[in-house]
Amino acid sequence: MDEAKKIFIVEDEKTIARFLQITLEKAGFKTAIEYNGRRAYEKIMQEKFALILLDVMLPEMDGMEICRRVREVSDVPIIMLTARDEIDDKVEGLDLGANDYMTKPFASEELLARIRGILKRYNEKIREDDTKRYVVRDMILYPERCEVTVKGEPVELTHKEFELLQYLVENKRNVINRDQILQRVWGYDFLGNTNVVDVYISYLRTKIDDRFGEKYIHTMRGVGYVIRD
Ligand code: CA
Repeated sequence: MDEAKKIFIVEDEKTIARFLQITLEKAGFKTAIEYNGRRAYEKIMQEKFALILLDVMLPEMDGMEICRRVREVSDVPIIMLTARDEIDDKVEGLDLGANDYMTKPFASEELLARIRGILKRYNEKIREDDTKRYVVRDMILYPERCEVTVKGEPVELTHKEFELLQYLVENKRNVINRDQILQRVWGYDFLGNTNVVDVYISYLRTKIDDRFGEKYIHTMRGVGYVIRD
Protein backbone atom coordinates (compact mmCIF):
# COMPACT_ATOMS: atom_id res chain seq x y z
CA MET A 1 0.00 0.00 0.00
CA ASP A 2 1.19 3.47 -0.84
CA GLU A 3 1.42 5.06 2.62
CA ALA A 4 2.87 8.22 1.14
CA LYS A 5 -0.50 9.36 -0.15
CA LYS A 6 -2.62 8.74 2.96
CA ILE A 7 -4.33 11.79 4.41
CA PHE A 8 -5.48 11.83 8.01
CA ILE A 9 -8.78 13.65 8.60
CA VAL A 10 -9.11 14.81 12.20
CA GLU A 11 -12.57 16.33 12.47
CA ASP A 12 -15.35 15.66 15.00
CA GLU A 13 -18.21 16.93 12.84
CA LYS A 14 -19.05 13.71 11.09
CA THR A 15 -20.72 15.27 8.04
CA ILE A 16 -17.63 17.41 7.38
CA ALA A 17 -15.31 14.46 7.95
CA ARG A 18 -17.34 12.40 5.50
CA PHE A 19 -17.34 15.22 2.95
CA LEU A 20 -13.56 15.47 3.21
CA GLN A 21 -13.18 11.73 2.86
CA ILE A 22 -15.31 11.57 -0.31
CA THR A 23 -13.52 14.58 -1.82
CA LEU A 24 -10.06 13.19 -1.12
CA GLU A 25 -10.77 9.62 -2.21
CA LYS A 26 -12.30 10.84 -5.46
CA ALA A 27 -9.05 12.72 -6.04
CA GLY A 28 -7.06 9.51 -5.54
CA PHE A 29 -5.90 9.85 -1.94
CA LYS A 30 -6.26 7.26 0.77
CA THR A 31 -7.82 8.50 3.98
CA ALA A 32 -8.28 7.76 7.66
CA ILE A 33 -10.73 9.58 9.94
CA GLU A 34 -10.55 10.28 13.65
CA TYR A 35 -13.14 12.24 15.66
CA ASN A 36 -11.33 12.35 19.01
CA GLY A 37 -8.32 14.64 19.54
CA ARG A 38 -6.34 12.48 21.93
CA ARG A 39 -6.77 9.34 19.83
CA ALA A 40 -5.82 11.34 16.73
CA TYR A 41 -2.58 12.43 18.38
CA GLU A 42 -1.77 8.83 19.34
CA LYS A 43 -2.43 7.67 15.80
CA ILE A 44 -0.19 10.36 14.32
CA MET A 45 2.61 9.16 16.60
CA GLN A 46 2.21 5.58 15.39
CA GLU A 47 1.32 5.87 11.72
CA LYS A 48 2.86 7.66 8.77
CA PHE A 49 0.57 10.11 6.97
CA ALA A 50 1.29 12.24 3.90
CA LEU A 51 -0.71 15.13 5.36
CA ILE A 52 -3.05 15.91 8.25
CA LEU A 53 -6.28 17.91 8.06
CA LEU A 54 -6.71 19.11 11.61
CA ASP A 55 -9.86 20.67 13.04
CA VAL A 56 -9.31 23.07 15.95
CA MET A 57 -12.18 22.25 18.31
CA LEU A 58 -11.97 18.56 19.16
CA PRO A 59 -12.92 16.43 22.15
CA GLU A 60 -10.19 15.60 24.72
CA MET A 61 -7.30 17.38 22.94
CA ASP A 62 -7.73 20.37 20.65
CA GLY A 63 -6.09 20.85 17.26
CA MET A 64 -3.64 23.48 18.54
CA GLU A 65 -2.31 21.14 21.20
CA ILE A 66 -2.03 18.29 18.69
CA CYS A 67 -0.18 20.56 16.25
CA ARG A 68 2.22 21.76 18.95
CA ARG A 69 3.01 18.21 20.11
CA VAL A 70 3.38 16.80 16.61
CA ARG A 71 5.80 19.57 15.61
CA GLU A 72 8.14 18.56 18.43
CA VAL A 73 8.89 15.36 16.56
CA SER A 74 7.66 15.63 12.96
CA ASP A 75 7.37 18.00 10.00
CA VAL A 76 4.43 16.17 8.44
CA PRO A 77 2.32 18.75 6.55
CA ILE A 78 -0.66 20.03 8.57
CA ILE A 79 -3.62 22.08 7.35
CA MET A 80 -5.73 23.50 10.18
CA LEU A 81 -9.50 23.64 9.64
CA THR A 82 -11.01 26.62 11.40
CA ALA A 83 -14.51 28.04 11.73
CA ARG A 84 -15.17 31.48 10.31
CA ASP A 85 -15.16 33.20 13.71
CA GLU A 86 -11.86 31.69 14.86
CA ILE A 87 -9.50 34.21 13.26
CA ASP A 88 -7.10 34.07 16.21
CA ASP A 89 -6.86 30.33 15.77
CA LYS A 90 -5.36 30.77 12.30
CA VAL A 91 -2.58 32.92 13.62
CA GLU A 92 -1.94 30.62 16.55
CA GLY A 93 -2.05 27.55 14.33
CA LEU A 94 0.53 28.95 11.93
CA ASP A 95 2.69 30.01 14.89
CA LEU A 96 2.59 26.44 16.09
CA GLY A 97 3.87 25.21 12.75
CA ALA A 98 0.77 24.42 10.72
CA ASN A 99 1.54 24.73 6.99
CA ASP A 100 -1.78 26.32 6.08
CA TYR A 101 -5.34 26.80 7.24
CA MET A 102 -8.77 26.62 5.62
CA THR A 103 -11.85 28.42 6.89
CA LYS A 104 -15.01 26.32 6.96
CA PRO A 105 -17.02 26.04 4.83
CA PHE A 106 -14.67 25.73 1.86
CA ALA A 107 -14.92 24.40 -1.69
CA SER A 108 -13.42 21.00 -2.38
CA GLU A 109 -11.43 22.36 -5.34
CA GLU A 110 -9.69 24.88 -3.13
CA LEU A 111 -8.87 22.26 -0.52
CA LEU A 112 -7.41 19.92 -3.15
CA ALA A 113 -5.34 22.74 -4.66
CA ARG A 114 -3.90 23.60 -1.25
CA ILE A 115 -3.15 19.97 -0.46
CA ARG A 116 -1.39 19.40 -3.78
CA GLY A 117 0.60 22.61 -3.35
CA ILE A 118 1.78 21.66 0.11
CA LEU A 119 2.64 18.07 -0.85
CA LYS A 120 4.62 19.33 -3.84
CA ARG A 121 6.63 21.80 -1.74
CA TYR A 122 7.17 19.18 0.95
CA ASN A 123 8.47 16.61 -1.54
CA GLU A 124 10.74 19.17 -3.17
CA LYS A 125 12.15 20.04 0.23
CA ILE A 126 12.83 16.36 0.95
CA ARG A 127 14.63 15.96 -2.39
CA GLU A 128 16.69 19.08 -1.68
CA ASP A 129 17.69 17.74 1.73
CA ASP A 130 18.60 14.46 0.12
CA THR A 131 20.98 16.06 -2.35
CA LYS A 132 22.61 18.39 0.18
CA ARG A 133 26.28 17.56 0.31
CA TYR A 134 29.67 18.82 1.39
CA VAL A 135 32.67 18.38 -0.85
CA VAL A 136 36.30 18.42 0.26
CA ARG A 137 38.51 17.41 -2.67
CA ASP A 138 37.59 13.73 -3.31
CA MET A 139 35.53 13.40 -0.15
CA ILE A 140 31.75 13.90 -0.33
CA LEU A 141 29.60 13.93 2.77
CA TYR A 142 25.81 13.52 2.55
CA PRO A 143 24.36 14.79 5.82
CA GLU A 144 20.78 13.53 5.34
CA ARG A 145 21.92 10.02 4.53
CA CYS A 146 24.83 9.97 6.99
CA GLU A 147 27.08 8.72 4.20
CA VAL A 148 30.60 9.59 3.18
CA THR A 149 32.48 8.63 0.06
CA VAL A 150 36.11 9.20 -0.81
CA LYS A 151 37.04 8.82 -4.49
CA GLY A 152 33.58 7.34 -4.99
CA GLU A 153 34.13 4.62 -2.42
CA PRO A 154 31.84 4.48 0.61
CA VAL A 155 33.45 4.88 4.04
CA GLU A 156 31.86 3.05 6.97
CA LEU A 157 31.61 5.40 9.95
CA THR A 158 29.89 5.12 13.30
CA HIS A 159 27.32 7.77 14.16
CA LYS A 160 29.74 9.71 16.37
CA GLU A 161 32.50 9.54 13.80
CA PHE A 162 30.11 10.88 11.21
CA GLU A 163 28.97 13.75 13.44
CA LEU A 164 32.56 14.69 14.18
CA LEU A 165 33.52 14.60 10.52
CA GLN A 166 30.45 16.61 9.52
CA TYR A 167 31.25 19.27 12.11
CA LEU A 168 34.81 19.62 10.80
CA VAL A 169 33.67 19.64 7.18
CA GLU A 170 30.98 22.27 7.83
CA ASN A 171 33.74 24.43 9.23
CA LYS A 172 36.44 23.52 6.76
CA ARG A 173 39.53 25.74 6.88
CA ASN A 174 38.52 26.84 10.41
CA VAL A 175 40.39 25.37 13.34
CA ILE A 176 37.98 23.76 15.82
CA ASN A 177 39.15 23.19 19.37
CA ARG A 178 38.40 20.16 21.54
CA ASP A 179 35.83 21.94 23.69
CA GLN A 180 33.83 23.03 20.65
CA ILE A 181 33.89 19.47 19.34
CA LEU A 182 32.86 18.02 22.69
CA GLN A 183 29.96 20.43 23.02
CA ARG A 184 28.71 19.89 19.52
CA VAL A 185 29.24 16.16 19.10
CA TRP A 186 29.00 14.81 22.64
CA GLY A 187 26.69 17.45 24.16
CA TYR A 188 27.04 20.13 26.78
CA ASP A 189 26.88 17.85 29.78
CA PHE A 190 29.46 15.37 28.57
CA LEU A 191 31.54 14.46 31.61
CA GLY A 192 34.10 12.15 30.07
CA ASN A 193 37.70 12.80 29.23
CA THR A 194 38.48 15.29 26.44
CA ASN A 195 40.82 12.61 25.07
CA VAL A 196 37.74 11.11 23.50
CA VAL A 197 38.09 13.74 20.76
CA ASP A 198 41.65 12.68 19.96
CA VAL A 199 40.62 9.05 19.95
CA TYR A 200 37.81 9.70 17.45
CA ILE A 201 40.05 11.85 15.29
CA SER A 202 42.45 8.93 15.13
CA TYR A 203 39.59 6.62 14.05
CA LEU A 204 38.70 9.04 11.25
CA ARG A 205 42.32 9.25 10.15
CA THR A 206 42.59 5.50 9.95
CA LYS A 207 39.39 5.21 7.94
CA ILE A 208 39.98 8.18 5.63
CA ASP A 209 43.49 9.69 5.56
CA ASP A 210 45.39 6.41 5.94
CA ARG A 211 43.11 4.32 3.77
CA PHE A 212 43.08 6.75 0.85
CA GLY A 213 46.63 8.04 1.33
CA GLU A 214 45.53 11.66 1.51
CA LYS A 215 45.65 14.07 4.40
CA TYR A 216 42.32 15.69 5.18
CA ILE A 217 42.46 16.18 8.95
CA HIS A 218 45.24 18.41 10.26
CA THR A 219 46.26 18.89 13.88
CA MET A 220 46.95 22.40 15.08
CA ARG A 221 49.10 21.62 18.07
CA GLY A 222 47.66 23.06 21.28
CA VAL A 223 44.63 24.45 19.45
CA GLY A 224 42.52 21.77 17.76
CA TYR A 225 41.75 20.26 14.38
CA VAL A 226 41.03 21.53 10.90
CA ILE A 227 39.96 20.01 7.58
CA ARG A 228 41.54 21.60 4.56
CA ASP A 229 40.68 21.28 0.90
CA1 CA B 1 -14.81 20.59 15.75
